[in-house]
Amino acid sequence: MSPPSQIHAVDFDSAKLQRLGFGQRQHTAQPPASLEQLQLEFGLQLQTSLEAEKILETFFRGIQRLMPLNALNYEQHSSDLHLKFGERAHHRASYSLSHEGEHLGELLFQRSLRFTELELAQLETLLSCLLFPLRNALMYRAATQSALRDPLTGTGNRVAMDQTLFRETELARRHKYPLSLLMLDIDHFKQVNDTHGHTTGDEVLKAVADSIKSQLRNVDMVFRYGGEEFLIVLSNTSREAAAMVGERLRHAALRLMHPAPVHPIELTVSLGCATLLPAESAQSLIRRADNALYVAKREGRNRLAMAG
Ligand code: GH3
Ligand code: MG
Ligand code: MG
Repeated sequence: MSPPSQIHAVDFDSAKLQRLGFGQRQHTAQPPASLEQLQLEFGLQLQTSLEAEKILETFFRGIQRLMPLNALNYEQHSSDLHLKFGERAHHRASYSLSHEGEHLGELLFQRSLRFTELELAQLETLLSCLLFPLRNALMYRAATQSALRDPLTGTGNRVAMDQTLFRETELARRHKYPLSLLMLDIDHFKQVNDTHGHTTGDEVLKAVADSIKSQLRNVDMVFRYGGEEFLIVLSNTSREAAAMVGERLRHAALRLMHPAPVHPIELTVSLGCATLLPAESAQSLIRRADNALYVAKREGRNRLAMAG
């Protein structure tokens, strides 16, 4: 039997927000004992972060001071956000959040007792406090994501790559786990452009990026390093495991026959693989992966070479 659900849609409007006192700036030192106090507290607290996770956690903990609540789930598909707080329970109240036609995600409240009408009304009132902070957080997330992505292939750009490599080398050293890199370059890509045109070249680049992403568990670890060159960061991956991933990527590229108008384009890629050495910098690790790629090219392309 599926659990009982109480489903609602909330369309925030500014008149209602005014009526509910949103935007009033009164400080309260007391922990909220009432709906009104919680509203005031949220009005201040929820504005203090641009991270959806922090905002929703504050919201969840605050509501728990007004009524029993076991869990809060939040999903927003277009920005790929899935957040969960607390432990799941049988009774649910779900809200589809929107403002002026803009979809702001789905919220699911869960607890072991059925929600009363009064509690649902209180939840709806408090949801109004979430509107602007949540919308700002979603806009901020979209802006930072697009600033970190290569628009053509959807892979991470160099800024994202530097951040990830810095973080991953630190983590690998601290937790003493292996970190490997694959540098992948499309073979004779200039010929694709020369024969079929730049637009087809762009399509091939996208297809190769999609093929790489489809072979990996974590798509956030693929970066466009240069024109037709991608860097793949394999966290907690040994030299041997990285070589296997590299071979998998090479075979996937072979299957990517691009349906060009005259002759289908046969694609191959070359790869260089390197694994972090003790006390090695991220720059040196990249250099060794790049050198290994150069060896793969020199030895005939369509192959993987391991850094020494
Ligand atoms: P190799 O096998 O040695 O890698 O040969 P190659 O032809 O792939 O390498 P080369 O470095 O000579 O040429 C890379 C080409 O990639 C040249 C450049 O015009 C093309 N390129 C770089 N970025 C883009 C892009 O965004 N779109 C398209 N269509 N082509 C690009
Ligand atoms: Mg190339
Ligand atoms: Mg190249």
